[in-house]
Parts: sequence; C-alpha cells; structure tokens
Amino acid sequence: MTASTTPSDIDVDRNRAVTITFEDGVVCEFPVRELRAACPCATCRGMRERGRDVWPAPGAPDTISVGGAHLSGAWGLSIEWSDGHSTGIYAWAVLRRWWDAGLHQPMLIDPMLNDPVLVDPSTESSHAESSD
Ligand SMILES: [Zn+2]
Repeated sequence: MTASTTPSDIDVDRNRAVTITFEDGVVCEFPVRELRAACPCATCRGMRERGRDVWPAPGAPDTISVGGAHLSGAWGLSIEWSDGHSTGIYAWAVLRRWWDAGLHQPMLIDPMLNDPVLVDPSTESSHAESSD
C-alpha cells in the first residue's frame, strides 16, 4: 500500500499546527514550531547543512505562527511565517514522508519537490498519460 501524497483537507491553526488530511484518510498534524524549524527552502537547507539551527534565531522570540498560507500549484503549501520568512514551500510528498517517519526525525527534503524551478508540469502530465 502506497501512502497518499494528495491532501483532501488542509486546516491551518495559525498559532498551533497545520493539519493535513490525505486522501487515504490519514490525518497528519504538524506543529508550527517543527514546521518552521524544518523549513525546506534553500537558505534554511544550507544553514542546517552547516550545523546551524534555522529557528529560533539567537535573541529573537521563540514564538512562531503562520501569517499566511497558500497552495503552491498542486504539489505543496507555501507558508508565510510571523517572523517574516516565507520562502519555504512544503511539498505534500515530503510532509507525508516526514509524518510516516515520525516528526522526531529530520524532514527529508527532496530538492526536486521543493524547488519550483525544477518542477516541470509538462513532464508530470506526460507521466500521467503513459500510465494508460
Ligand atoms: Zn527557509
């Protein structure tokens, strides 16, 4: 059985958690603090690779909330954080894999899924057609 990576419902509780219900019925609740610390954007990925925490920043408040969230195409959620950071796009497939692995694990970010420049819609549709 393959885990669904298509959400059927998305609920943003700005100060608490982003809850995603996937089409296979699995409900995944991602606390905002974990989501912010795991931001998948290139800048935050680079900081983590150098062994630095991306959030909270030294001297900055350690409270965080979602200022805004919107769908990024069909493949993920773009979140604007209360600390002004907004470049991370959380791909459904990455979030689902993270949930299934356990949120105590680092979020495994697939650059192909998290860099819009690398996502080519024409490639995706040709895959869908070839399944026939
Ligand atoms: Zn980031």
